Amino acid sequence: MLDALFKPKAVALVGASTKELSIGNVIIRNLQRYGYKGAIYPVNARADEVCGLKSYPSLADIPGEVDLAHIIIPSQFVPQAIEECGQKGVKAVIINSAGFSEMGEEGARLQAEFLANARKYGIRLFGPNCQGIINSDPELNAYCNFTFTFPKPGSISVVALSGGVGALIMQALDDLDIGQRLYASNGNACDVSIPEIIHYYGEDEGTKAIILYTEGFDKPREFLEVTRKVAARKPVLAMKAGRTEEGAKAASSHTGSLAGVDIATELIFEKIGVLPFRDEGEMVRAAMAFSSQPIPAGNRVGIITNTGGPAVIATDVLVGFDLEVPKLSAASIDRLHETQFPEAALENPIDVVATAGGPQFRAALDVMMDSDQIDCVYINFVTAPFTDTDAVAREIVEVNLQKRKPLVCNFMTNLKLERFQKTMAILKEGEVPFYANPGDAARALGALVQYGRIQRRDIGQPQVFDGTDAARARAIIEQARQAGRTVLSACEVYGIFEAYGISVAPWQVVQNADQAVAAAAAIGYPVVVKVDSSKIDHKSDMGGVAVNLKDAATVLSTVEEMQRRLGHFGELGFLVQKFLPGGRELIIGATAERNLGHLVMFGLGGIYVETLKDVAFKVAPVTGVEAAEMLAAIKTSALLDGVRGETGINRQAVIELIQRVSQLLGDLPMIEEMDLNPIMAFADRAFAVDGRIRIQTGG
Ligand code: ADP
Ligand code: MG
Repeated sequence: MLDALFKPKAVALVGASTKELSIGNVIIRNLQRYGYKGAIYPVNARADEVCGLKSYPSLADIPGEVDLAHIIIPSQFVPQAIEECGQKGVKAVIINSAGFSEMGEEGARLQAEFLANARKYGIRLFGPNCQGIINSDPELNAYCNFTFTFPKPGSISVVALSGGVGALIMQALDDLDIGQRLYASNGNACDVSIPEIIHYYGEDEGTKAIILYTEGFDKPREFLEVTRKVAARKPVLAMKAGRTEEGAKAASSHTGSLAGVDIATELIFEKIGVLPFRDEGEMVRAAMAFSSQPIPAGNRVGIITNTGGPAVIATDVLVGFDLEVPKLSAASIDRLHETQFPEAALENPIDVVATAGGPQFRAALDVMMDSDQIDCVYINFVTAPFTDTDAVAREIVEVNLQKRKPLVCNFMTNLKLERFQKTMAILKEGEVPFYANPGDAARALGALVQYGRIQRRDIGQPQVFDGTDAARARAIIEQARQAGRTVLSACEVYGIFEAYGISVAPWQVVQNADQAVAAAAAIGYPVVVKVDSSKIDHKSDMGGVAVNLKDAATVLSTVEEMQRRLGHFGELGFLVQKFLPGGRELIIGATAERNLGHLVMFGLGGIYVETLKDVAFKVAPVTGVEAAEMLAAIKTSALLDGVRGETGINRQAVIELIQRVSQLLGDLPMIEEMDLNPIMAFADRAFAVDGRIRIQTGG
């Protein structure tokens, strides 16, 4: 429970200061200014009074109980201060001081020391090197933070690792006059973690939506498990800094080259239903809509406008968010005929025209709210000076407060004119989310719709296939490890695939030309011969793949020729495989992400991986729904169904293959990298014809 941190009844400040320009002074004044309802205890042995409050020589001298202490003293004294907090019975500590793990070895030693002291007493630590928390609940008004924005109470809670970005978001929300509930910026996060805070916000009744800013996760699994549950109940709007290249761009030749490129965080967001943003302004404006509007039941938008062009701009943006602008029913249009001016356009968008007043706007809004073809409403409202704009605003507010369907308003005006300030005040008072341009309003509505879609989407559970043989696969890997190899041989790779029911083109591994001929006869012509050596990565680049060999003589000469040409790589083995012509070449790949598990990749395989980079990624385990999404996500998805008379592939077979790979990865976390490239997909089945597996060294 983080109540002691977020709902402290009494706060002590170890390192309270009489100097105005110091953190130990600012926090006290912030608490006072925000109207903190609890007791404030400055601790400073050299002062009798700080900010008009009695100062105590030490924590032990404080008469009452202390829930929360700020520590604002040089780092070397922090371990001792925590010890004293423990003796005083302090439950949570915000360490504002810096100079710990971010400062190298000595700092890290201090951090370990104070952490040990905290554990001894069961104290929860927030920070170090952090701002702190804010709780705007009017019953409490806890401003345990040294920054300068004083948010009004509301329903948006913010968590940010970086204090700078946290403050930026808080100020941006405040600039839009959006109320905030809880705020936390936890800096080094040595104890209280972001997932824990998100969990707490999830449980907090006053929090309607959560804003998260992060720079990545130490424990992505924990984040994933916790946030998945919260995001199902409350919108979580998130931004991740340090995003680099598009995933597809990263997949230069195979999945392994993904390593080091952080696409994992966005994939995690997608998997657990967190709304991703790439711009903090857009995120904050979306939060404004989330704080007052219901979640749309679908993606069909009704547009009402009193000016033409901006509706066109808005429509483009809305359609970009996959919103539909459906035609209105005849009954709806009849109703509009009765209420609108003759010049009005009675379609969707409804153009009520510039002379429209309150009654026209209201009638159009009512039609949209009543129509069962419409899930949400977008309004363009330009303050035409020859109309009663206040009356229009009041009608929008009245409909908004009914909360039947979400609406947003693009409010185009001149705020230097007092008259329109008043109109704006009416919208604001009536909790209408309004924006200064069509794009911003449309993107905010787009985010609402996107969240509705996420909430309705059910990715299902990962399928567990019967008859798989994890023990056999582990034994194969163990053997390779014993032999000191991290790249598995063809025999080992196909053995593991077979243990997971992954269809493989019939194959045999042989050591010489005569054995190859015998193997080919057993498999049946035509066959493929491939060189098998841990030193050769891309076999065809080295001339190590010969396809469509139709008879024994060709197999014999092919193997002998490869032996001559590639013999300098050392002892060679040969894979003889059934030749499977005419399939669509696909790739399934996987790469391990630190502390997360595996990312799974799907795309067009063979030569297309390099040339088109047309791939999609998911975080394992991949469910059937997600696998189907992967097939649909690639740009060349239509090719899978066949074009110009070609037969398409069996999508279901590939979806199953992806899930079998996913199960394999879950059982074998020591796999660092894996590719099935290509998979040969046909109208009925799909076979792996090439595979690579690299495992971790040691352990
Ligand atoms: P590498 O990727 O090491 O170069 P592959 O085994 O993937 O070697 O073979 C290269 C290409 O040869 C494949 O992309 C595919 O086009 C073709 N190929 C390989 N095996 C078969 C097979 N069994 N049937 C049909 N074509 C194959
Ligand atoms: Mg290959």
